Formats: sequence, C-alpha cells, structure tokens
Amino acid sequence: MDFKSYIRDVPDFPKPGVMFKDITPLLQNHEALSSAADCLLKDLKKEGIDKVIGMESRGFIFGPMLADRLEAGFVPIRKPGKLPYKTLSESYNLEYGTDTLEIHVDGITKGDRVLIHDDVLATGGTALATTKLVEKLGGIIVQCNFLIELSFLNGREKIKPFEVKSLITY
Ligand code: 5GP
Repeated sequence: MDFKSYIRDVPDFPKPGVMFKDITPLLQNHEALSSAADCLLKDLKKEGIDKVIGMESRGFIFGPMLADRLEAGFVPIRKPGKLPYKTLSESYNLEYGTDTLEIHVDGITKGDRVLIHDDVLATGGTALATTKLVEKLGGIIVQCNFLIELSFLNGREKIKPFEVKSLITY
C-alpha cells in the first residue's frame, strides 16, 4: 500500500516554518489504518513482546492497536504531571530549552520485552528519552517503530543501538 498518499503536509503548523506531517487522512481510512498496523508488526510476530510503549500523544493511537495484536500490554509515556501514580522522569534537550517525559514506575517489570512506538521520528529526542526510561526500569528494547521517519533530521543515529523501523521515510 502507498502509505505516503495518506499523509498530508500542513505548512506552518504548529508554528511558522514547520511542515507538519498530518497522519489523520491515514487514520480516517480503515484499510490504510489496519494495513499500517499490520506492516508495523511484520517482523515482530514471533518476538514475544510483553509491553508496547507509546509516547504522548500520537503514540497513543497505534500503540494500543499494536499491543492488542501482539497480545501485549500498553504503557503510556506522558508529559510531566499527567500520570497519576509514582513516576520516573527523563529530561531531554530541544532546539530551545528542555522537555521531560514520565512513565509509571510499575509500567515495566524487569526483563519485559518492549516495543517502543511513536507516529513520527524527527530529531530522536523523544525516542531517546523513552529508551532511557524503559532501560532504567529494566525493560529490554526489541524495536522502536514509527509510522514516519524524517530521515534528514538523523533521529535514527540518536537511538542507534536499537532496531529502528519506519513505514514512511522523507
Ligand atoms: P523528536 O523528538 O524526534 O524531534 O520529535 C518527535 C515527536 O514530535 C513525536 O512525538 C511526534 O509526534 C512529534 N512530531 C514532530 N514532527 C511531527 C510531524 O511533522 N508530524 C507529526 N504528526 N508529529 C510530529
């Protein structure tokens, strides 16, 4: 399937100069939605995944779908102050300033085999912080997968030791 044809470029969103990759046309189409989930899992069927980790907020769309297909649990990674229970935090650098991500301390049990999923891999800051949270809790990262990879931003380099898979590359 030509997944690229379901991604819409929105100029100057969320701020001037940014060309935003909008995944909602893909989500709106059942065939594309289901086929994208299947393709994201292609190499993982026999890997034995215990937890799928999804990053706020668009990682929450495919994350639970993938978890259900893998018969795994789903664990959200959120911005500070959003998770109600005890959390572990990890800060990372942005172009201007820093950001922080959090996970519930009981989200991963030591030795859990983990799939990390987000909609877009851009600079890799979000994904790198997520890998650190997972490893601090003793999770084993089997793969990081993304619907879209903006390869010109070299995010893949940032999370190099881990297997990276993306469906659509720009
Ligand atoms: P990074 O930390 O890799 O620079 O940015 C990745 C995060 O930003 C992801 O959580 C992703 O949802 C969001 N993101 C960055 N650029 C885009 C974009 O063009 N489209 C969408 N849908 N999300 C983006």
